[in-house]
Amino acid sequence: MKAQPKASHFVNGEWLEDTAGEMIEVIYPGTLEVIARLHAATPAVVDAAISGAVAAQRKWAAMKPVERARILRRAADIIRERGEELARLETLDTGKPIQETRCADWPSGADSLEFFAGLAPTLTGETIPLGGDFAYTIREPLGVCVGIGAWNYPSQIACWKAAPALSTGNAMVFKPSEMTPLGALQLAQIFVEAGMPAGVFNVIQGRGAVGAALSTDSRIAKVSLTGSVPTGAKVYASAAAGMKHVTMELGGKSPLIVFDDADIESAIGAAMLGNFYSSGQICSNGTRVFVQKGIKEAFLKRLAERTAAIVAGDPLDEDTQFGPLISAAQHEKVMGYIETAKAEGARLVSGGASGNEGPLFVQPTVFADVTDDMTIACEEIFGPVMSVLDFETEEEVIARANGTEFGLAAGVFTADLACGHRVIAQLEAGTCWINAYNLTPVEMPFGAVKASGLGRENSKAAVEHYTQVKAVYVGMGPVESPY
Ligand code: NAD
Repeated sequence: MKAQPKASHFVNGEWLEDTAGEMIEVIYPGTLEVIARLHAATPAVVDAAISGAVAAQRKWAAMKPVERARILRRAADIIRERGEELARLETLDTGKPIQETRCADWPSGADSLEFFAGLAPTLTGETIPLGGDFAYTIREPLGVCVGIGAWNYPSQIACWKAAPALSTGNAMVFKPSEMTPLGALQLAQIFVEAGMPAGVFNVIQGRGAVGAALSTDSRIAKVSLTGSVPTGAKVYASAAAGMKHVTMELGGKSPLIVFDDADIESAIGAAMLGNFYSSGQICSNGTRVFVQKGIKEAFLKRLAERTAAIVAGDPLDEDTQFGPLISAAQHEKVMGYIETAKAEGARLVSGGASGNEGPLFVQPTVFADVTDDMTIACEEIFGPVMSVLDFETEEEVIARANGTEFGLAAGVFTADLACGHRVIAQLEAGTCWINAYNLTPVEMPFGAVKASGLGRENSKAAVEHYTQVKAVYVGMGPVESPY
């Protein structure tokens, strides 16, 4: 098999197998070929991973921040040296075009390791004068954190969670999506090659039940989930029962607002990037494209021309810009939304059918004349389906953009920067862009408001979510006690 790893799990610095766990077949979405067979973690594997992480965490936290940082930087170097091999594996695992996995997935993960390696050694506490006495604070790790990933950016998600957690002295047990289990195993091995002590970063496989077993274990201090809103609600509830910290990176239905005065070519490029990259399987996508009435027809004409020119094909082919969806279930779900949109009266501008390139392809699809109450304007589709809605005034579009339970991302295109800032200030979203879309550099916080999530990944903000403050009062004189 093309991508069979040495074993299903990587625990305590070693490959681990337990064939008693349910068999998970890993499929290459480009052709439906089975590329690996793994087993879900049994309770014994879950326990071994958590016990190993608990034992390793104290020693890891006792190391100097620069020593931990050196290991993380070495891991980033290995990722960059093996860029081509890792990109190919990511394409096999996800079906995303090699053009994308080469520049977006592992490279973004390596950026994250480098950024937090640099940041963690600069963290300090405060000294607080209190007359003769004083207090000081120390930023401490939380302990053992669980990372649970989605299938759209499996290796990037593993790195984005591991980097802030490990750089600050936590250990982690990571469970990738059962659909894309391969990249995280590579990360675990790379960490060990880079000199990380055994047990600091462990990867175990499985479906939701394994994620639930991890997130309810009393030895776990925090759960960081990337997934859908319904899964987020379940994990958040179980974390609450154990008073655990959480980071929740969940779904969205984000607005991308294009005003009459915008650079139309740029706005169309951003709308395509924010709906068709990774075949639309991106949480922060601007799937509700609000276009001001004056430019609507020109926008749609040019959008249709550019969409027709997208090159779909075998994800491993160098020229391919657009690949399949992750699974048959996702294909069926997305095609269902397209049929519903047609039935509800949306105007089909491009695509609207399955692609001929393979069983899991859906054509890049654009619907115009979408209204706020149509199903495709309300629900997350997680496929290449763009809804174009028209608007007249700034006030109107802000209210309509905010009329959703989601609050992940938002974008505004306009030549009037005052308008751009004014509108963004009123949008209910955690991650926003003005005259850009879906760029997520590690230096910038990434996260959501409302039902789309809690906490932040990337940037200095992520440190807050993987550490806690201990305050220490120091008495300098005799204790004045009333007793
Ligand atoms: P999902 O919610 O089905 O699964 C996500 C992960 O949670 C998987 O690893 C799954 O096995 C696990 N899981 C499922 N039930 C669980 C439970 N009860 N307890 C613990 N773990 C459980 O999501 P998906 O279909 O894999 O991914 C698509 C979703 O992820 C979309 O909604 C998308 O918007 C979201 N997403 C969000 C971000 C972000 O950063 N905000 C990024 C990528 C994807």
